[in-house]
Amino acid sequence: MGGMGKKCIICDAEAQYCIKDSTTYYCVECARETFSDLDLLVKVTDMAQKVKAQIESRDVDLSFNQDNS
Ligand SMILES: [Zn+2]
Repeated sequence: MGGMGKKCIICDAEAQYCIKDSTTYYCVECARETFSDLDLLVKVTDMAQKVKAQIESRDVDLSFNQDNS
């Protein structure tokens, strides 16, 4: 029993929307049938995508050569 994916309360499919003020989840089709306006719903993926991936690229400056005359 993984707690990763939320399921639609109607058809048990993978939910992609939930009601803002509750923990009621709907898949896309059921959300469209139940609510004519998806503005009332929050996308589940929006909440899951709070992970930011940052890539750091650093330039290593090696001045190893020394000329003595
Ligand atoms: Zn559904």
